[in-house]
Amino acid sequence: MSATIGPSRFAERLARAQAAVADAGSAAMLVGVGPELEWLVGYAAVGHERLNLLVVPPVGPLTFVGPRLEAAAAEQAPGLAAGSVRLVTWEESDDPYLLVPPLLPDPDPDAGLGADAGPEAASGRILVSDGLRAAFLLGLQGVLGRARWGLASALLATLRRSKDADELILMREAAEAADRVIEAIAAGPVVGRTEAEVAREVRERLVDEGHDSAEFAIVASGPNSASPHHGPGERVIRGGEPLLLDIGGRRAGYCSDTTRTFWVAAEDGAAPPDGFVEIHRLTEEAQAAARAAVRPGVSFAALDAAARDRISAGGHGRHFIHRLGHGIGLEVHEEPYVISGNDDLARVGDTFSIEPGIYLEGRYGVRIEDVMVVAPDGGHSLNSTERSLRIIAGS
Ligand code: ZN
Ligand code: ZN
Repeated sequence: MSATIGPSRFAERLARAQAAVADAGSAAMLVGVGPELEWLVGYAAVGHERLNLLVVPPVGPLTFVGPRLEAAAAEQAPGLAAGSVRLVTWEESDDPYLLVPPLLPDPDPDAGLGADAGPEAASGRILVSDGLRAAFLLGLQGVLGRARWGLASALLATLRRSKDADELILMREAAEAADRVIEAIAAGPVVGRTEAEVAREVRERLVDEGHDSAEFAIVASGPNSASPHHGPGERVIRGGEPLLLDIGGRRAGYCSDTTRTFWVAAEDGAAPPDGFVEIHRLTEEAQAAARAAVRPGVSFAALDAAARDRISAGGHGRHFIHRLGHGIGLEVHEEPYVISGNDDLARVGDTFSIEPGIYLEGRYGVRIEDVMVVAPDGGHSLNSTERSLRIIAGS
């Protein structure tokens, strides 16, 4: 039985969101279907072409606008069931946009929707969530002609970034489930099967392990391991070559994401080539160095450097062609990004990947990825499968 996030968490999140809207001097925040809505009210709305919208004014009641045929589903969402958001429904033949203006503060030209841009980019503006469909935004603009608009991305990312204790339990459960899938693939036959077949098995196993959906299953064999976002295809996996697995999905809403790179035993028992052993060792050391550097207050740029410096010192700096990692939670990729130039500092509860890689085009590549959580005493990996080079039988 999975942990769940209780109504009091949602009430607290909604209160923080409303305070942030007020602090930013924003006229209101409008949140469409997506991870932001899930985080705020616990509602994974279907969405599609019908308007679903959470309206967060700087003061006063919050309202969720949604189609009546989905009212029963919406009412079950913990953030709405807790009574902190009222539900306003529209009929199939209604124009749902007309419901929104009365829910916003009075558009006072001196202080509200028509005000000049203040020092804060959000000031006076209606902030919309990233994923609000262009068609919905245009519909809203049609009924709110005088408003100025901005993105709620920064405001919501700040609120969502550090995970609470309930979220961390769900993240850990997702990571442990993904680890079991890595082990199952490592133990099972892969030789003679196509990458696409093994990827299908990965997806099935993720779902069998309680994932709602498998979001990705990178199965890259031989030279394909040198392509970081390889799409598994019809290549048949053989002995005597690397096999890179980068897998993950959503489990109880929260994402898993882990990568391991194996060597599939050669039929004649030949050892992996020195060059491959070397880049695997270097990647493992770089990954360990970055994990060891995780603590509250370390900058994301410094974490990236901790891994990159090690790989560069080993002569492979130009073969590490992506950032070190990404935040992860309700989305596979979210704030904070672990990349040079991001001087933001890690905070307790932040969750992000550490995934250095070395890619030698046409030959082979290695990536090792764990999801880390920042605790008061340092970084803890949610993934725990063996990181050192393993030679798997493959048959
Ligand atoms: Zn990954
Ligand atoms: Zn990742």
